[in-house]
Amino acid sequence: MPELSCQELIRFLDDYVDDTQPAELRAEFERHLEICPDCVDYLKTYRDTISLARGACAEDPSAPPPDDIPDELIQIILRSRPAG
Ligand SMILES: [Zn+2]
Repeated sequence: MPELSCQELIRFLDDYVDDTQPAELRAEFERHLEICPDCVDYLKTYRDTISLARGACAEDPSAPPPDDIPDELIQIILRSRPAG
């Protein structure tokens, strides 16, 4: 498998964060993160945003977190993604 580009990493970021991607792809992710501080920052922002969004939605503490992240939020995250 060729090395992931930043674009590819971002495309699969959701699966990475949810831990639903194949182990092989996950290994490629981690290899890219080792060499690309921009994507490490991006991943951190992405995770923070998701946990914030889930926290904001969880008015009932016994309710499960929502599976879907609003499109609007995704757009905000995508606009802040690293160049290149
Ligand atoms: Zn990158």
